[in-house]
Amino acid sequence: MSGIYIHVPFCKHKCDYCDFYSIVPSGEMDRFGSYISQELRLRKNYLGNDTIETIYFGGGTPSMLGIKDIEAILDDISANFLLSKNAEITIEANPDDLGLIYLQDLRGVGINRISIGIQSFDDGDLKQLGRRHDAAQGLKSIEWASKSQFDNISIDLIYGLPYSSTKKWEDNLATAFGLPVKHLSCYHLIFEENTPLYRKMNKGAVKPVDEELSVEQFKIMQQIANRHEFIHYEISNLALEGYYSRHNTSYWKQIPYLGLGPSAHSYDGNSRCWNPKSISQWSKAIASGRLTIEVETLSENDRINDYFLTSLRTIWGANLADVEKNFGKDMASKARETANKYLKKGMLEIEGDSISIKPEHFLISDGIIVDFLI
Ligand code: SF4
Repeated sequence: MSGIYIHVPFCKHKCDYCDFYSIVPSGEMDRFGSYISQELRLRKNYLGNDTIETIYFGGGTPSMLGIKDIEAILDDISANFLLSKNAEITIEANPDDLGLIYLQDLRGVGINRISIGIQSFDDGDLKQLGRRHDAAQGLKSIEWASKSQFDNISIDLIYGLPYSSTKKWEDNLATAFGLPVKHLSCYHLIFEENTPLYRKMNKGAVKPVDEELSVEQFKIMQQIANRHEFIHYEISNLALEGYYSRHNTSYWKQIPYLGLGPSAHSYDGNSRCWNPKSISQWSKAIASGRLTIEVETLSENDRINDYFLTSLRTIWGANLADVEKNFGKDMASKARETANKYLKKGMLEIEGDSISIKPEHFLISDGIIVDFLI
């Protein structure tokens, strides 16, 4: 069981807070789909004979791709890999790219999950973030996705925004839970270096929210989500039962994946590798039938750290019997000792051999997880 990730590195313009690898296209999109197809043929043995359970078009802005490109990529995946009949196939989309016909076409070519970058239902917030859509477009995109038979709709929301208030965040959540949305990804705003927002902060034009407000907004998110039977299954992700992101859950469960496109990462259980963060470097290599991949073989310590870093982000947590089986008795007893410290503080819970961070402590999970690392 494996996944395929396709990184579509195009954005119509850069949002003020974003530091993902993406470019404003000037002709590079024309051959992008065919380069992805060439790359997947070059790397068709990367996952052995594993069945592909999930495909994820991420970005950048995958909804800038034409339907023909998406269809051709999916056809090539089916021709070169064993694709599960009930594979989860997700596309990330920006609201202003989503018209009814495009959405119906996405369903028609087999996309069965859509993750829409709403970020906020407030025009002031969207302006502040430098988004190119407004609140009305956000609402319309969800309505149209639902009309186009998308049952599995996820949206992204950002909290901890400068000038935000508890009331505004509550309103955003109330709007989200009034819509046919089954999955929410909620991220706290980060002032990433080398972004316009970061520069504004340095000039004193915007100020990060204080910690108290961040904690309050996080708690509000959990309370409201709980009322609507959403499960907080990972630090930043909440969903109705049966609507967890299978693709992202695979990352947290160390399931192998193949990443295609510039800057995409891949993982085969023993090593990680990644493509260059440059569309010209990546496409030149692919066009000449070569790969320009950097590889990092994982040491046992890397694998132990990866295991705790990913598993403890989720409600399923880390399994200490697995730790003993895979990494030895000493490692398992060190993990038990650390776990006991947090069990006593009431921050972890234990069920059988599995330990997990209680969702109410997800916000400080980094500080707990770091204690499990070697
Ligand atoms: S659309 Fe998404 S990937 Fe593109 S700049 Fe904005 S936040 Fe970044």
